[in-house]
Amino acid sequence: MSDHTNIKSTDVLIIGSGPIGATFARMISDALPKTKIVMIDLGPKLTKRAGMHVKNISDAVERESAQIKSQGPHQKAYPLTTVAERANAAKDGNLSLDMLARPGTHLVTDNITDLKKNQMPAASYSSNVGGMGAHWTCACPRPGNEEKIPFIPEQEYEFAFAKAEELLCVTQNAFAECAEGVAIQKVLGDVMNHQLSKNRQVQPMPLACKVDENGERYWVGSDIILGELAEPGYDKNFELKSETICRKLFTDGKNITGALIEHLPTKKIEEIKAKITIVACDALRTPQLLWASGIRPKALGHYLNEHPFVFCFVELNDELVEKSFAKKYDQSSRSEPTIGVFWVPFDAPNHPFHGQIMHMDVSPIKIETNQNPKHIVGLGWGCTKEIQYEDHIEFSETEKDYLGMPKLNLRFTLTENDKMQIEKVKSLQIKIAKAFGKIIQEGEQTLMPAGTSLHLQGTTRMGKINDGTSVCDSHSNVWGYSNLFVGGNGVIPMPTTSNPTLTSVAMAVRASKKIISLLENKSY
Ligand SMILES: Cc1cc2nc3c(=O)[nH]c(=O)nc-3n(C[C@H](O)[C@H](O)[C@H](O)COP(=O)(O)OP(=O)(O)OC[C@H]3O[C@@H](n4cnc5c(N)ncnc54)[C@H](O)[C@@H]3O)c2cc1C
Repeated sequence: MSDHTNIKSTDVLIIGSGPIGATFARMISDALPKTKIVMIDLGPKLTKRAGMHVKNISDAVERESAQIKSQGPHQKAYPLTTVAERANAAKDGNLSLDMLARPGTHLVTDNITDLKKNQMPAASYSSNVGGMGAHWTCACPRPGNEEKIPFIPEQEYEFAFAKAEELLCVTQNAFAECAEGVAIQKVLGDVMNHQLSKNRQVQPMPLACKVDENGERYWVGSDIILGELAEPGYDKNFELKSETICRKLFTDGKNITGALIEHLPTKKIEEIKAKITIVACDALRTPQLLWASGIRPKALGHYLNEHPFVFCFVELNDELVEKSFAKKYDQSSRSEPTIGVFWVPFDAPNHPFHGQIMHMDVSPIKIETNQNPKHIVGLGWGCTKEIQYEDHIEFSETEKDYLGMPKLNLRFTLTENDKMQIEKVKSLQIKIAKAFGKIIQEGEQTLMPAGTSLHLQGTTRMGKINDGTSVCDSHSNVWGYSNLFVGGNGVIPMPTTSNPTLTSVAMAVRASKKIISLLENKSY
């Protein structure tokens, strides 16, 4: 460090302001309000309340502007593309930014040469206060039997998930019951329920959403998790520094002794010395920062995982809606066409998959169609992927990304077993599509390009023991560093197909308990 660098101290430094960084801040602040917390994020603050979900911005122009501000180097709107166009582009090897990136995100590799080398071309980031949590679909299903992390005691697991659901305001009542919704759930139930356990039947998707007495929805982002810490002007022991990147952690080999941070617009550099440092920069940039800091356990960036996802769109058979159900509901009172999101839970061995069924208006992938959108249903089905050491992030020793951090390239291949699982998903999906009506040609079955799930996992995975196959312990404490914690989907060590954020928030809740105890006992 230069002698001229400004050095500041704090109790806790949190790097990354997405849902996971926010969970750490809230848990620690609630338990120990006198603890000084500094949170930094390399992206801009989009809204007055820090980390609000952009769907809550009612003005469409403002909303689009917030999405664009989150897109790192790509400060422009992406063109709308159909699922078919995206799939065909991927099949033809015609990978381009416009075919892969989604609003509010930017691709890890942003030029065509790098995209061709990258085996997970759709892998993306969000670079804004609130992270991807300002753009997510908010689906928060609990993981099923074989998806659970086996070395976490059941009671602790249960506590962590209940707290995570509370922080995320998870509800199954975000959408009012309507004719199409009932129809969708019945069709799915008729095909699937007989093979699912009693507590894993077809049901409305648990969503991170606050619903007021008028049925108005407020989608949960970091602001809700942070609570009063997110309020503009909040100045009691919590400071959020936006557009501020952490470039490096300093270490004496056992502890983190400081963090080099830079305010990007002014290039002002500071060192922050914290008793506890938490890195929650997503599953790619958390290992990137550790690697840049010379913290390189064997498993760092390895075991890269996501669940393959097959999409198709069906037109809901009119008769199902109109004859069987519509009379029961007053259609005229509906102010919007949204039906809701439904869930066919993972339940091995009969259904080792995850079904997420959405009306196209809430689907993260837009399809263009002349059909009446009221009756279009998106069927997303995923399976688990075999976890392999070889699937990993390559960090460049020489090349840098747009922010001057080590450039990443992603190595990721499907095994023969993965391919078999995908075929099984496809046959199940066809069976279900037929029960609904007909598959829309422009939304026919498509295995989405790797990275599309936006649920990358495993790159800072937790383990029961320090045997070289994990980066941190079951409390997210990096092996060998008493005051360094990691958070986010990267800590999930299991093959999963359920959406991961609820699990990552739960693991941050569990890790926070350990941090709180370290702070109370001054043992850092
Ligand atoms: C369109 C979309 C739909 C999704 N739908 C769902 C869903 O329905 N269910 C679900 O479970 N998940 C979903 N996800 C994924 C979900 O949003 C993520 O799992 C979640 O946001 C992860 O939280 P996080 O805090 O770990 O990371 P993020 O939310 O990605 O936040 C990481 C933050 O770290 C910051 N950062 C990175 N590097 C640095 C650095 N060196 N210095 C300072 N700051 C840094 C980034 O700017 C970012 O703000 C979706 C994502 C998207 C984009």
